Amino acid sequence: MITLALSKGRILDDTLPLLEQAGIRLAGKASGRELILPTTDPQVRIIIVRATDVPTYVQYGGADLGVAGRDVLIEHGGDGLYQPVDLGIARCRMSVAAPETFDYKAAVRRGARLRIATKYVTAARRHFAAKGVHVDLIKLYGSMELAPLVGLADAIVDLVSTGNTLRANRLVEVEHFLDISARVAVNQAALKLKGERLRPLIERLDAAARAKVES
Ligand code: AMP
Repeated sequence: MITLALSKGRILDDTLPLLEQAGIRLAGKASGRELILPTTDPQVRIIIVRATDVPTYVQYGGADLGVAGRDVLIEHGGDGLYQPVDLGIARCRMSVAAPETFDYKAAVRRGARLRIATKYVTAARRHFAAKGVHVDLIKLYGSMELAPLVGLADAIVDLVSTGNTLRANRLVEVEHFLDISARVAVNQAALKLKGERLRPLIERLDAAARAKVES
C-alpha cells in the first residue's frame, strides 16, 4: 500500500487533477469528513492532514509521500525527505510587507534593527541574514497583517497571491524574495523499500505537472 498525504484546500484541489492524469481517482464520493480516502488504485490511498503536518507524516513514515508548499517544507527543515518534483501548483510568493507609512528601504539602508512578525521564521531568518539586515523575529500563527497595525512589528513576512489581503490592511509588498509552489516530498526509506511502486507514481505525477505547465 502507498499512502499519499495531502491537505484540504488548494493542495488537494490542485493535486487531484494531476493524480487523475497519472491514472488515479478518488474511489466514490467523499463526505469531506473522512481522513483516509481510498482511490481507484487499490494500492494507493490518500490521507488528509493539516498542511504543516504533511512533512511530519512523511518524515516518520505515516505517509510514503505527500504534497506540501515550499514554505511548509522550509519551515519543517526537510529532514528525512526527498523532494524530487515541483508540481508547480498552489503558487504564490513570500514577501516582506509593511505599512504604507513605514519607509522599509530607508530603514534597511540606515541599518535599523527591524521587528518582523511572521509564521515563516526559518525562511525569514535566512532572507534577512543573506541581506545582512538585523531583525527580531516574532513568531505568529496567523493574521500577521494585524501586527504592524497595532505596533507589534515594523513589518511582516507572509505569503502573497493576489495581494488583496495586504491591500485590505493597507500594507505594501516591499520585497518579494521567494517563489512558492507545492512539491512532492517522499520518505527516503519508503523510496528504498517501495521504490518499484513509488518511482512510477512520482514519474507520472511529474509528467502530469509538466503537461499542465505546457498547456
Ligand atoms: P492574497 O490575498 O490572494 O494575496 O492571499 C494572501 C493570503 O492567502 C496569505 O495570508 C496566505 O496565508 C494565503 N495564501 C495565498 N496563497 C497561498 C498558497 N499558495 N499557499 C498557502 N497560503 C496561501
